[in-house]
Parts: sequence; C-alpha cells; structure tokens
Amino acid sequence: MKLIFLGPPGAGKGTQAIKIAQRFQIAHISTGDMLRAEIREGTKLGMEAKGLIDRGELVPDDVILGMVKNRIQKEDCKNGFLFDGFPRTIAQAEALENISAIDYVINIEVPVETLIRRISGRRMCADCGAGYHVSTYAEENCKCGAALYQRDDDKEETVRNRLVVYERSTKPLIDYYTGKGLLHTVNGNADIDVVDAAIRAVITQ
Ligand code: AMP
Repeated sequence: MKLIFLGPPGAGKGTQAIKIAQRFQIAHISTGDMLRAEIREGTKLGMEAKGLIDRGELVPDDVILGMVKNRIQKEDCKNGFLFDGFPRTIAQAEALENISAIDYVINIEVPVETLIRRISGRRMCADCGAGYHVSTYAEENCKCGAALYQRDDDKEETVRNRLVVYERSTKPLIDYYTGKGLLHTVNGNADIDVVDAAIRAVITQ
C-alpha cells in the first residue's frame, strides 16, 4: 500500500503516520524528518536546507526528489510506504507519477487556530527526533533521555510563513489529487484515535 498524507503544518500528519505505518507494516517517509537528520549530521545537504527550513520556505524540488527516490529503494519499502510532508508542490506530485503509483491521498483537515495551538506546544527530541506536545508531556527530556527542544521553524513568525507557503504551494494538491480520484478528506480536529480510525476506514474500504 502506498499512501500520501496531505495537510498543513500541525494537522497531525506525523502523529497519524506513525500509527498507520506500524499497523500496516509500511515505511513512514517524512521528508521533514529526513532533512532534520541531515542537519543533525551536518551534511552539505543539511547545511544548504537549514536556512530555508528555519525561514519556513520549501527546499528545492530536485533536492527532495533525489532524497525520495533513494529512500523508496530501501528494503523497508517493499510492502509499501506512507509519505508524510511529500509531495508539497505540484511539480513534486508530477515527478512522483514517474516514480511510483499511489493508492490513497489522505487530506487531514484542521482549522487554523488549532494548527497554531498545536505547533506552538510542539517539542522534539534533539537525539532520536521523537515528537511531543507540552499539553500531554510536561517533561524536559525525551523518553530516550535526551533534551527536548522547540524546532526553530515552530516559532510563531515562521509558523505563519509556513502556513502562507502551504496555502500557496501545497494546497493546490487537493484539487490535483481530487482530479485523479485519489483524495479522501478526514477531519483532523478530533482525538488522535478518532482521526486514526477515520483514516483506517478510508484505506481498508
Ligand atoms: P515538516 O517536518 O514536514 O513540517 O517539514 C519541515 C520543513 O522541511 C518544511 O517547512 C520545508 O522547509 C522542508 N520540507 C519538508 N518536506 C519538504 C518537501 N516535500 N518539499 C520542500 N520542502 C520540504
């Protein structure tokens, strides 16, 4: 099974992706997580991407497509995969057509006030990359023991730009995938398990 999770920053794509990928034994491919790993490792790609990410801008399509093409060759993708945060532009979606077929595109819809509340409380582990929210996890350290931090691009000014970039570059994918008959919208403004059940209902129909 090959899935795309679409939605603005803070929609819950990452949280839901972890659950679905585990349940269906498919690879969870988050281009944002891959870029943050490159930054942590201090690679050339990571250093080039960092400025753009910190400003809430998109990383160039060719960089992202190169990463994705390599990633889906890996052994853990043989049962399928779930893209979280990819594609983010029409050009990426068009290029993806030459790389792989897709079974379902899940569009997770959440009102903008909820997005800002969720993102501003989000914390990440500096070591393993796990994500938490201050409303449900008040500790300063990750369960793995490393310190938690707030992503630079989760600070309010950058979040506003990320939402503008979403509207301009990524939202058009809703029409693009509707036209291909692949889009399914679920309400993301609900408890984690309720959203998970709604996604499962789509992909097991
Ligand atoms: P995310 O963790 O998905 O919110 O991604 C964090 C940041 O990484 C985004 O704001 C972009 O700067 C960059 N990024 C992640 N995925 C992509 C993509 N598919 N295309 C372009 N930039 C991306």
